[in-house]
Amino acid sequence: MKFKYVIVGAGLAGLTMAERIASQLGEEVLIVEKRSHIGGNVYDSYKDGILIQNYGPHIFHTKEKKVYDYLSQFTDWRDYQHEVLSYVDGKLVPMPICIDTLNVLYGLDLDEQSMKEYIYNVKEDIDEVKSSEDVVLKNVGRDIYNKLFKNYTEKQWGTSAANLDSSVISRIPFRFNHDTRYFEDPYQGMPKEGYTKMCESMIDNSKIHVLLNTDYKDVNEYIKFDKLIYTGPTDYFYDYKFGKLLYRSLKFVSEIHSIDSYQEVGVINYPNDNDFTRITEFKKLTGQIVPDKTAIMMEYPGFDDEPCYPYPTEEYSQKFQQYKQLMDKEDNVIFIGRLAEYKYYNMDLVIKSALDKFKTHIKGE
Ligand code: FAD
Ligand code: UDP
Repeated sequence: MKFKYVIVGAGLAGLTMAERIASQLGEEVLIVEKRSHIGGNVYDSYKDGILIQNYGPHIFHTKEKKVYDYLSQFTDWRDYQHEVLSYVDGKLVPMPICIDTLNVLYGLDLDEQSMKEYIYNVKEDIDEVKSSEDVVLKNVGRDIYNKLFKNYTEKQWGTSAANLDSSVISRIPFRFNHDTRYFEDPYQGMPKEGYTKMCESMIDNSKIHVLLNTDYKDVNEYIKFDKLIYTGPTDYFYDYKFGKLLYRSLKFVSEIHSIDSYQEVGVINYPNDNDFTRITEFKKLTGQIVPDKTAIMMEYPGFDDEPCYPYPTEEYSQKFQQYKQLMDKEDNVIFIGRLAEYKYYNMDLVIKSALDKFKTHIKGE
């Protein structure tokens, strides 16, 4: 079998590339996907009539109008601004940190000015921010670190924030206002009919062929191509030549409850209690109306399930650099996405990377 373009992985990286090749160049594309469905980690499906996200809560948010406009060709949007509460000392406090977080946590009545004074007195002087722990200590001090970040991070990553790159916790802002939204990006929302429907619409083109339930290494020798677009783990691609890259994974446990509403907001974090990190209630994200029934999901971090996150420590970024030297020399392989580029990408940046690489590496602009 010969295809000019073969894509490994039907996540957003692979689907975006397939969509561009088929719609802009009119070429045939084969996508090889080892799971039984398309969408990668954004796949959603119905459980007992309720739309759940099988690989955890995904909220679309971006600063990139180009990415928002691109996806808007394939879905309408539900206007949704994500809010997260964190369960600490028996209270539910807004996350990220803002004036309301401190007021509820410590029973205070701060405003913007007095929050600045409060933080000034508790934050630590750190000259060189080297780790995720440093980021929090420098911004808000040790007590807030201990209550909201320390144990959540240890659960999520299986190591202390002191060992993690500063970029991990820098994903979370520190605010001196009453903005309790999780994200500040100008474009935010949920695909109106879900991510799977959006993904199906992206590849609704007779030139795109999808082979599910197939690891590409099992069919490699039978399929010829001019260009391979690879979105799986890099170390696997190179047969672990330089050793394994660590990927953190999650076990997702969903439950149906015979009540209308399970919790106040879509996601509640549990930094200091339970083995799971957070509980998501999907109806709160999707807006689906189902009386007297709701679906929730707990996330248990580990290393044994599908790879979800590149591991942001010095050791593994160095190991990835060894692989990167090989990747850069490949003439007919393009690497895109969270697993292949070993980057803690959100959805929008995966799509941006695919759109950019389509232009530079395939169209040759
Ligand atoms: P993936 O979705 O992982 O797709 C890669 C595909 O390749 C998979 O389907 C895999 O099965 C397939 N594959 C791998 N190896 C092989 C092989 N050997 N042969 C064949 N197929 C193979 N981003 C946001 O913007 N907002 C959020 O709220 C958000 N929440 C998240 C919550 C969780 C719990 C997680 C884990 C991620 C979240 N993300 C979020 C990030 C988002 O999931 C990713 O940015 C995006 O899905 C990555 O797309 P991808 O195509 O790079 O990778
Ligand atoms: N984090 C934390 N407490 C929280 C939420 C997040 O300590 O209540 C830390 C944790 O290390 C996490 C990182 O901040 O991995 C980034 O959080 P984000 O919500 O961006 O992670 P995501 O779930 O999107 O991967």
